[in-house]
Amino acid sequence: MKDTEICTLASGSKGNCTYLRYGDTSILIDQGLSLRELKVRANYCGIDLSRIDALFVTHEHSDHIKGVGAFARAYGVPVHIPSACLSYICKEDGDERYYIPNEQDASVVVKDLKVTPFRVPHDAHYTVGYRISDGKNDVAIATDLGYVGDGTLAKLSGCKAVVLESNHDSLMLAKGRYPQRLKARIAGKNGHLSNDAAGEVAAALAQTGTQKLLLAHLSEENNTPEVAFESGRAALGRHGIKEGDDVLLYIAGQYKPSGRIKL
Ligand SMILES: [Zn+2]
Ligand SMILES: [Zn+2]
Repeated sequence: MKDTEICTLASGSKGNCTYLRYGDTSILIDQGLSLRELKVRANYCGIDLSRIDALFVTHEHSDHIKGVGAFARAYGVPVHIPSACLSYICKEDGDERYYIPNEQDASVVVKDLKVTPFRVPHDAHYTVGYRISDGKNDVAIATDLGYVGDGTLAKLSGCKAVVLESNHDSLMLAKGRYPQRLKARIAGKNGHLSNDAAGEVAAALAQTGTQKLLLAHLSEENNTPEVAFESGRAALGRHGIKEGDDVLLYIAGQYKPSGRIKL
């Protein structure tokens, strides 16, 4: 079996970047770090950025695209992006050379990988998650989404590992200092996934064979790694699933890479 690994280099509203490698094929999902910071983190993890084959963008919010242009130019890497987001990224970047617009969530083949976008509800012009497959081991990533409906759940089901948003604790958000309007946006159907919602999704996915779940895009204001982890662990427990035995939970941090997690 090909060795497969996943590593979140950054996750949260200050920047997102996820690395995925299947044997000789490696990709990044989003690049919301400065090129300098990306290099520091990749180096820390022993990841060779010159071997990245393609970059995939989920949506045009700046925490996901800030460093896309700089990375593409430095390494000559093609960038696959939903076509609806293209004009926004080019406005920031002024450079279209490396961008390959994806019209209708078509699958993209990168060497021996198939990368399939699927649309998720979020308040950008167009937001996708991705399911990556070599035909045997699937991995999916879904951050920045207001809720997980049946369609999204189907896209995430049966993956070995899933990077799933666990943005906020609903009580911390409700009692916190954000203005009412922002609270409503975050908790809304096109906002961000709560810990409770993520926990239920995690339990459903564990029952489809998911073994590793990376809780991602945690709010620094309305969540903590401990609260997110405990909420996920408790939700699994309510469904008779034991964290540590049946499934492993990880926290994707903002300031520190997750480490290279083998599948
Ligand atoms: Zn984001
Ligand atoms: Zn977003």
